[in-house]
Amino acid sequence: MTHSGPELMPETWSTNDPVLSVRNLHKSYQDQHVLRGVEFDIRQGQVKAVLGPSGSGKSTMLRLMALLEPADDGEIRLRGRRIGVREKASGAVALPERELAKERRNIGMVFQKFNLFPHLTACRNVMLGLTSVKGIHHKQAEEQAMAMLQRVGLSHRAGHFPSELSGGQQQRVAIARALVMNPDVLLFDEPTSALDPELVGEVLDVMESLANDGMTMIVVTHEVRFARRVADEVTLFDSGVIVEQATPDEFFDNPQHQRTRKFLSHVH
Ligand code: ADP
Ligand code: MG
Repeated sequence: MTHSGPELMPETWSTNDPVLSVRNLHKSYQDQHVLRGVEFDIRQGQVKAVLGPSGSGKSTMLRLMALLEPADDGEIRLRGRRIGVREKASGAVALPERELAKERRNIGMVFQKFNLFPHLTACRNVMLGLTSVKGIHHKQAEEQAMAMLQRVGLSHRAGHFPSELSGGQQQRVAIARALVMNPDVLLFDEPTSALDPELVGEVLDVMESLANDGMTMIVVTHEVRFARRVADEVTLFDSGVIVEQATPDEFFDNPQHQRTRKFLSHVH
C-alpha cells in the first residue's frame, strides 16, 4: 500500500477552518453498520456537546476521531491534515502506524472509566505521556504535571494513588493527563457517567473552566444542563448519523427534527 505525497502534506489551514473535521465516516462491526456517514466539524475554541441514545455510535465516533481504531471509509482532518483515514472513492489509505502515533498526541481523550494506572501516583499518571511519548526529562515533566494537577484543583493529591482518590478526583487526574499533552482538541466520552451523583459537579466545573479558557472540546454526555450552559453547539446522534446540530437554545427550545423532540421528551 502506498499513499500519494500531496495527501499527507500539511495543507493551508487558517484558524477559521475546523480544527477537527470528519466527512462521510463509516464503521461496521461484523454485519452491524455502526457509523453511517458521519459529518462533523469543530472549530478552535468551540465546545460541542453530543447527545444520543445508548448504542447509537457516539463512543465509536470518538474512538475513530482519536485514531484509536481505523475507519472503514471516510476522512478525518486535523488542522487540515488528512490523518489516518481510508477513502474508498479516492483510494487513499490509512497513515502508517508511526505517523498515526504522532497524530494521536494531538487529540486528547477522557474516558468514562478514567483508565488511570493503579500502580502510579496521580502525578506519575499525568507525567507518563510526557516522559514516555514526548521524551521530556523527569524534572520538567514533573513540573508540568504539577501545574496541570493544580489546574484541576488537585495539587494536594499529587502523591496519592488512584485507589486513594474519589471517582471525581480520579477523573480530574485523567483530565490533567490529557491536558498536559497540550492537545489540539479534547474528546470526552461520558466523563461523569461512572460517578456518584455528588461527584459529578466537580468534574463538570473543571470542564466548564477549560471551556472558558478556550479549549476545543467535544463532549459526549447525558448532562443536558451542562450541554445547555457550556456548549456552543449541541448535536443529536442517532443510529450512526448526526440528526440535528444547533445552538443550545435552538436545540432545546426549537428542535427541527421529530427525532430530537422525542429524545428530549425522555431526558427532560
Ligand atoms: P454509544 O457510545 O452511543 O452507546 P457505541 O459506539 O459504544 O455507542 O456502540 C455502537 C454499537 O456498536 C453498539 O451496538 C455496540 O455494541 C457496537 N460496538 C461498539 N464497539 C464494538 C466493538 N469493538 N465490537 C463489536 N461491536 C461494537
Ligand atoms: Mg458510549
